[in-house]
Amino acid sequence: MGLLARYAPLLPLTASTPSVNLEEGNTPLIRLPRVGEQLEIDLWGKFEGCNPSGSFKDRGMVLAVAKALEDGARALICASTGNTSASAAAYAAATGLPCYVLLPAGRVALGKLAQALIYGATVVAVRGNFDRALELAREAAKERGFAMVNSVNPYRLVGQRTGAWEVCDALSAAPDWHAIPVGNAGNVSACWAGYTEYRRLGKIPKTPRMMGFQAAGAAPLVTGRPCPDPETVATAIRIGNPVSADLARAAITESGGEFNSVTDEEILSAQRLLASFGGVFAEPASCAPLAGLVKLKRLGRLPRDIRVVMVLTGNGLKDPDTAMKQAGRPIEVGDTLKELLSVLRPGGVR
Ligand SMILES: *Cc1c(COP(=O)(O)O)cnc(C)c1O
Repeated sequence: MGLLARYAPLLPLTASTPSVNLEEGNTPLIRLPRVGEQLEIDLWGKFEGCNPSGSFKDRGMVLAVAKALEDGARALICASTGNTSASAAAYAAATGLPCYVLLPAGRVALGKLAQALIYGATVVAVRGNFDRALELAREAAKERGFAMVNSVNPYRLVGQRTGAWEVCDALSAAPDWHAIPVGNAGNVSACWAGYTEYRRLGKIPKTPRMMGFQAAGAAPLVTGRPCPDPETVATAIRIGNPVSADLARAAITESGGEFNSVTDEEILSAQRLLASFGGVFAEPASCAPLAGLVKLKRLGRLPRDIRVVMVLTGNGLKDPDTAMKQAGRPIEVGDTLKELLSVLRPGGVR
């Protein structure tokens, strides 16, 4: 069952909202004991890479596209660091809407670009950064009367509340900390809204602290001012002027949480840690929370034995180039058993 059917009573659906469904949501909440042990916490990962287009963006997109259809939209448009475009293009294909996506030229991970193209979207590479592409998409949407499906579209954030709801449904409670990467700052805001709504409905007794993590080279919410030239290996959070900055600040303050930044080196090392001690391959942006937990542990600021849910926002397969740069290489041998056995040692060769 897709998200619109599963959470229908909590979503702004009407009798004339078409049913759109790619079986999004219901992603695995995975316990990560070998990683958690190192941090002395009860660590879980919500693996959003299992969504149909491989990121959490599908949670909001399914509702935004259903509402666009309900409102008679003729086409979808968005600007994207990659995953929004992949998601929009998938739902456009499934519903028959034309889709236009604006990407910062040369700055989108290979898998995400392949997705937008193969789903059949019209892909426009803008020679500028994401923030500029977003401004252009907003103006073009107005000019052409297309449905804008970036997270400025309110239905995106409403749909993304389902991520927090699923965590609570699975654990029968909220975690102590909800650790999440922050780019345009929509998801941290949406998850907080999801938790507070569940508390209001009496489904959970208390809400988590929202811990937002940004890349050091694109950390406007940590420094307190827009970053004119954002730079990070985590392209999904390479954003200098977050659209939902105010909502995100409110979520952090109300929940008693904080924003922190992590370097690209820390992010890549966390990606390796998650893959090689957790068995979960997430894209770089998704590993900013784990990098942050490692950093807080090092600083003596990670309480022991708390339950932490990290949102692993996107699938590692989307960005194979970045992974290959740090993952090592295969061991090559000749085609003899002797040579093969020389590299097969009990206990492993790594
Ligand atoms: C979009 C995205 C983010 C950032 O989410 P925001 O809502 O923009 O803060 C993080 N990780 C991945 C993989 C994403 O696709």
